[in-house]
Amino acid sequence: MPERPDLEYVVPILAKELVGVEIRAVVLQKPVVLRVLLPENVERLVVGRKITGAARRAHFVRFGLTGDPPLEMIVSPMLAGRFSIAKTGSKAPRDAAMGFDLDNGQTLFYRDDVQMGKVYILPKDALDSVPGASKIGVDVLDPKAFTLKMFMQLAKSRRDQAKVFLMDKSALDAMGNAYADEVLFEARIHPKTMVRRLGDEEIERLYKAIVNVLGAARKTIADRKPPIDEKIRDFLKVRGRPGEPCVHCGTKLRKAGVHGHDAIYCPECQPDERKSAFVDFRKVKGG
Ligand SMILES: [Zn+2]
Repeated sequence: MPERPDLEYVVPILAKELVGVEIRAVVLQKPVVLRVLLPENVERLVVGRKITGAARRAHFVRFGLTGDPPLEMIVSPMLAGRFSIAKTGSKAPRDAAMGFDLDNGQTLFYRDDVQMGKVYILPKDALDSVPGASKIGVDVLDPKAFTLKMFMQLAKSRRDQAKVFLMDKSALDAMGNAYADEVLFEARIHPKTMVRRLGDEEIERLYKAIVNVLGAARKTIADRKPPIDEKIRDFLKVRGRPGEPCVHCGTKLRKAGVHGHDAIYCPECQPDERKSAFVDFRKVKGG
C-alpha cells in the first residue's frame, strides 16, 4: 500500500495539480471501489464541481469539492491503490478503477490492481463515517504530538505483539507492513515480541526508530522525485528481502507470520525474546 512516506510525497503534488480544476466527467471502470454515501449517483454529485484541496489524513486522501452543499471525495488506497494524472483521451491504465476528466485537459485516475481500496463520496466533514477513520492515532511525524513520554505511556498500555502495535492506525499514524518491518529492524526488536515485555530502553529505541526511519524515507522519496504512481522501496533494508543477507551482520533475513501479516526480520539482530526467556527459565531451574 502507499505508506505514510509515499503519501507525504504524492498528496502535495495532487494538490498542486488539481486545486481549482473542475470535474467534467466520471468514468467508472471498477464500480466495486466506489462508495457513495449520499442518495444520488456519482456523476450527478461530482460533475461540475471544482476540487478545492487535497490533503492526507492518516492513510486517507481527502479531496474537497465545491458546491452546495460542499462534498468530499475520500480515497482509502489500502493495499495497491495509487493515483496518476494523464492527458484526457489517453488510454486508461490497465489497473484504472475510476477516471475523472478535468477541465484542464487532464484526467485523474484512481488505480487499484486488487480493488481493495475505496473511493467515498460524502458530505464535507463526514470523515467519521468512513470505516477506520473515526479514530486516528498520533501523528508520528509531528514532533510536538509524538513525544517519547506519550509513546512510553501508549506502549505500556498494549497487550499485543510489536508488529501489530506499530500497524494499529488507531494508535499510530501511520505504518503499514513495509515500514513496520523497517522500524523493528532499526530498533533491533523481533516482530513477535510482546510490547508489554519491552523495557524502557527498548521502547525508547523503538520510538527513535519510528522517527528516524519514517523521516529518512520521506526525505529519500522527496529527493528522488518518482512519478506519483510509483512506489520506491529499493532503499528499504529488510522489506521485500527475505533470504538476502542482513546489511549489518550478513545473516539471511527471515519471514514470519504475525497476525495475518508477514514480517521480514534478521534473526541475529532481532533475537526472539520469547526463546531467550525460555532459556533463562531453564537456567534458573537447573540452578
Ligand atoms: Zn542482522
